[in-house]
Amino acid sequence: MLISSRVKNLHPYVPGEQPKDRVYVKLNANENPYPPSPAVTRALTDFINKSPEKLGLYPDPDSLQLHAAIADMLNKTGGVLSRCSLAADGSVTPAEEDKIPFTVTPDMIYSGNGSDEVLSFVFYAFFDSGKSFVMPEFTYSFYPVYAGFYNIPMDTIPLKEDWSLDVDSMLSHAEKNKGGIIFANPNAPTGLALTREQVRQMLLKADKDEIFIVDEAYVDFGGESCIPLLKEFNNLVIVRTFSKSLCGAGQRLGYIVSSPELVNIVTTVKNSVNHFPIDALAQVSGTAACNDPAYYVDCAKKVCMARDSFYNFLKDSGFYVLKSQTNFIFAKHPSISGQDLYKGIKNEGILIRHFNTPGIEDFVRITVGTEEQMDMLKKAFEKIIRK
Ligand SMILES: *Cc1c(COP(=O)(O)O)cnc(C)c1O
Repeated sequence: MLISSRVKNLHPYVPGEQPKDRVYVKLNANENPYPPSPAVTRALTDFINKSPEKLGLYPDPDSLQLHAAIADMLNKTGGVLSRCSLAADGSVTPAEEDKIPFTVTPDMIYSGNGSDEVLSFVFYAFFDSGKSFVMPEFTYSFYPVYAGFYNIPMDTIPLKEDWSLDVDSMLSHAEKNKGGIIFANPNAPTGLALTREQVRQMLLKADKDEIFIVDEAYVDFGGESCIPLLKEFNNLVIVRTFSKSLCGAGQRLGYIVSSPELVNIVTTVKNSVNHFPIDALAQVSGTAACNDPAYYVDCAKKVCMARDSFYNFLKDSGFYVLKSQTNFIFAKHPSISGQDLYKGIKNEGILIRHFNTPGIEDFVRITVGTEEQMDMLKKAFEKIIRK
């Protein structure tokens, strides 16, 4: 056979469309509408102007400077940007309840080429092909992709009627399977979150010898980070990304926060595939981003304000809307199909996301953009509803 049997198990991810035929306002991939901090642009141009020869050399395989900067940012922000307070002098303070009760150290960080790559290594390191891992039925659609890639069976647990995670069912299945748990918190595409205490209760009930993975891609927009729980639980791995709240989807940077022991395991996997996942420019820009938390706190707050205003608009327009703690909104209209909403909005020059997945096909997922973009989107929605 020309093609391996492994390839037959692949279910490639379909990303939000990136059309080339015309310029659309892109509210379909949960990217941040704001550019990275000016400090990032400065660091990158300085790097290229002052040490172009470094582009010809291999980057630091361990990304030590970046890991120190990530740890520092987490300590300064508590891991939830939108809930930080921002003083006039640019200093950032976490909300009292978000303060991490220990110091995150660089050896608790592992970083990779986007959290998608990090997740791939995490799946490889902690899930086994002989045992099903537990995940919610509707969650980040890359998890099944990796399960197929590594031939790991999955046990998908339906959401509850209100679209929240069925925590009890997830736990009882995990107890039976002994293969670990993964979910996004806040979850995608629903935008709903468990509180830290709810996750803690789950961890208390879950098997301490099985891995427990929380994907915090969206937590900076108002959820509660589980980083403080690392003090109590050695089986917890938290996955985070620069793509959403750190305005960095183009630079491909993601990371985990966990115990140094589990970080070492993932590092071993990485060193068995590609020793240099993070290129020199991404290390420079990621470090500069972490060193300017105030800028990103401001961006996150703006996104949250635009989100809440758009939530009210949709509610007032008769939509069923989930109360999002992310930078996107999941909503459906009582009489206009998800597909028609998507098409109508696209006609107005704006892309939103529609999933043809049974169970959620009535919904659209709308990424929160700038205030101006959301005003444009409101007008587009008004036009379609009036038709
Ligand atoms: C966007 C997203 C990611 C992937 O982020 P990258 O770092 O861009 O690969 C991971 N998990 C969830 C839940 C996401 O929505």
